[in-house]
Amino acid sequence: MLDLSYEAPKPKVIAGAKHDWELVIGLEVHAQVASKAKLFSGASTKFGAEPNSNVAFVDAAMPGMLPVINEFCVEQAVRTGLGLKAQINLKSAFDRKNYFYPDLPQGYQISQLYHPIVGEGEVLVDMEPGIARLVRIERIHIEQDAGKSIHDMDPNMSFVDLNRTGVALMEIVSRPDIRGPEEAAAYVTKLRQILRYLGTCDGNMQNGNLRADVNVSVCLPGQYEKYQDTQDFSHLGTRCEIKNMNSMRFIQAAIDYEAKRQIAILEAGGEIDQETRLYDPDKGETRSMRSKEEAHDYRYFPDPDLLPLEIEQGWVDDIAASLPELPDAKKARFVKDFGLSEYDASVLTADTANASYFEQVASDTDGKLAANWVINELFGRLKKEDHSIEESPVSPAQLAGILKLIQKGDISGKIAKELFEIVYTDGGDPAQIVEDRGMKQVTDTGAIEAAVDEIIAANPAQVEKAKANPKLAGWFVGQVMKATGGKANPKAVNEIVATKLGQ
Ligand code: ADP
Ligand code: MG
Repeated sequence: MLDLSYEAPKPKVIAGAKHDWELVIGLEVHAQVASKAKLFSGASTKFGAEPNSNVAFVDAAMPGMLPVINEFCVEQAVRTGLGLKAQINLKSAFDRKNYFYPDLPQGYQISQLYHPIVGEGEVLVDMEPGIARLVRIERIHIEQDAGKSIHDMDPNMSFVDLNRTGVALMEIVSRPDIRGPEEAAAYVTKLRQILRYLGTCDGNMQNGNLRADVNVSVCLPGQYEKYQDTQDFSHLGTRCEIKNMNSMRFIQAAIDYEAKRQIAILEAGGEIDQETRLYDPDKGETRSMRSKEEAHDYRYFPDPDLLPLEIEQGWVDDIAASLPELPDAKKARFVKDFGLSEYDASVLTADTANASYFEQVASDTDGKLAANWVINELFGRLKKEDHSIEESPVSPAQLAGILKLIQKGDISGKIAKELFEIVYTDGGDPAQIVEDRGMKQVTDTGAIEAAVDEIIAANPAQVEKAKANPKLAGWFVGQVMKATGGKANPKAVNEIVATKLGQ
């Protein structure tokens, strides 16, 4: 694999009234495992089902029901760990996190506090070509999701939907290595991309399948670097945690607001209370939800219903061997094999569907030409109709067909765009369409010369002007292109016009 060399971005600096401040951010991302069944029951995880229709007895915490671990979910956590180059712990264990909530009928959440299944890993967060931040992952643990309380359907009652209760989540905890709002969004974007490549989480943020708790503190410039290599960040500023963010835009806005709020308090001589806050997108501000609870508030203890989770190295190795090519490797390969810019390679590897489409086109044509057409023409056209690449009416083979005609000199770039539109709307074989509609470029210099002669003869005044001012030759080129229905080879026309005008 190629290593793309990169430089770390500068941390975001926020000017205070007294001096500058820097941001320190750590994220806890909850990613729903792409599993059809829940973590400890066979109930379906299908989104949008009739409320309380996907609830097994164990999800509803009926007396005497026992959880049974879903091996597929464990496999996805291991896969995710391997994809984040993380330590896989062959022994892990489940703990009960006790708290009362109407949509948590057990009265506790089954999670992994003391022995998570995945240890330290890393995510390379791309900011712009050549600039990236390596964000360290502290751990990934598996846990149950809670249900959903609905407070806005009735003025007097609240409702509870237990469909989501017991769905498997992977909680991916980062070190506080993120240094600005844009970086935080880029981190979530990259993490989401890796999860989608791995197939372990669908990354659908709108449905809440990927959400982030965002921890924010501020410090004096240079402070973070002092503690960067330790795992103890308690000497940095006190942090607040903004819960349950599921939009990249809101994550950035919330961090911005939160940083300014903390700076104002600190500069006025106050102290930051470590607390859990909620972001209100309508007001664009965060507000306190509860004071920060400590691990001991939850009375964590090992879940007596579940044996410690032991997995075998051989099984982990098999999963490792089945990992797909991941975004960084794919991007590096695209740069190397197809001669693409890092930017183009990033766009084309944003998801596997784009990447595979491009590769099919490029395998048969020129890489740069293919990248240019996929990004500018195809993506642009699909976007107009809000279509995904899977819905593209132009197949990779058809697009490659168009590009081959350009490469052979059969059609100009301009005609190629017309041809693309025809294939997009009517379908068909590009070479056949060019043949049938007589769209082939005229490269026959005799025919072009005749057209040039005709226009020169008809426009003596223009000829005099062009002889005095060579820039006006363009007018003749335009006329010839018009007369030939855009089919004349533009390079040949330029040359012939220049010669005939004596330039
Ligand atoms: P707790 O055990 O109280 O939840 P953790 O140490 O597990 O605290 O940290 C939770 C999250 O907060 C992690 O993502 C971590 O990176 C982040 N974090 C820790 N210290 C800070 C800090 N000073 N500023 C911002 N984020 C922080
Ligand atoms: Mg924690």
